[in-house]
Amino acid sequence: MNEKRKIVLVGTGSVGMSMAYSFLTTGGIDELVLIDVNKEKAIGEAMDLQHGLPYARSNITILAGDYSDCKDAQIVVITAGVTQRSDETRLDLTARDTVIIKDVTENIMKSGFDGIIIVASNPVDGMAYVAHKVSGLPTNRVIGTGTLLDTARLRFMMSEYLNISTSNIHAYIMGEHGDTSFVPWNNAYIGCKPLLNLLDEEKRNLEDLHNIYVQVQQAGYEIVKRKHSTYYGIGLTLNRLVQAVLNDENSILTVSAYQAGEYGQEGLYIGVPAIINRNGIREIMKLELNEVDQTKFNNSCKTIKEINKTIIDPLL
Ligand code: NAD
Repeated sequence: MNEKRKIVLVGTGSVGMSMAYSFLTTGGIDELVLIDVNKEKAIGEAMDLQHGLPYARSNITILAGDYSDCKDAQIVVITAGVTQRSDETRLDLTARDTVIIKDVTENIMKSGFDGIIIVASNPVDGMAYVAHKVSGLPTNRVIGTGTLLDTARLRFMMSEYLNISTSNIHAYIMGEHGDTSFVPWNNAYIGCKPLLNLLDEEKRNLEDLHNIYVQVQQAGYEIVKRKHSTYYGIGLTLNRLVQAVLNDENSILTVSAYQAGEYGQEGLYIGVPAIINRNGIREIMKLELNEVDQTKFNNSCKTIKEINKTIIDPLL
């Protein structure tokens, strides 16, 4: 990778700008270029961030640019998207987003870009699939945020429930970033202790775990109900993923990764734990799923594959 840590952001809406703003406090990048179909918005956002730089922790070059800026970027983050119209179904929205992500990816690749694409636009498993198909980049270099935000929500809620630091909660949400996600509880640990053993010892109710999952699954809807959209959580999630790549961390993060048979499924992007480093997805971490969880995973794959086949593929 180049010395300069250059990130291009495509889509300067609430999600993209939450990530952008977070870099002013965490640092970790040298240059951030903002692109949006609404060019004036990208310029205004760049100006606003630039004016905060004298009080920021790190010195980052922030510019509004165009797709030619992708050429020497290490990472392009895609957060472009459209709002659901009142007369529109989720599937109609997926079709419109597919057209956008296809167009964005083509423009990125025309620049000669040869780095890593990170996709947050929804439905994220489908949009990562679009970016992979259209870019022709190796599967390890196209990453969807997948269930990384869901996993953060899970760790936060379990931390509150158990009164243990989030950093010691080793539990993942897997599957679709959506209604068919699930938690493989048998594979969850608190520190080095299996979660189920801990609950047993503390005489806690297993039903509580189910309630925690439901709260995680509903979290997005609950936030949208109150403030129309969610962005800080996903902004920090994107920051975390970008840093894992740039710092060559080999960190385990639940991202949307291309399946090549690791969990018995192929040809789709879906949320699984994966080792992330400077090459993107180094490898998918294979957990031993019990029969119930494998069925849930297969069900999630079925949902995503159906959308890929009926809505996305015909548009590519
Ligand atoms: P937003 O409407 O605030 O911003 C979207 C931006 O994309 C706008 O600035 C718009 O001008 C831009 N855009 C639209 N078409 C474009 C194109 N062709 N090229 C370049 N830019 C284009 O929306 P938001 O709240 O920032 O959400 C962005 C996306 O992130 C949505 O798809 C949303 O569902 C998704 N999201 C994902 C997660 C997750 O966990 N993966 C969480 C929250 C939101």
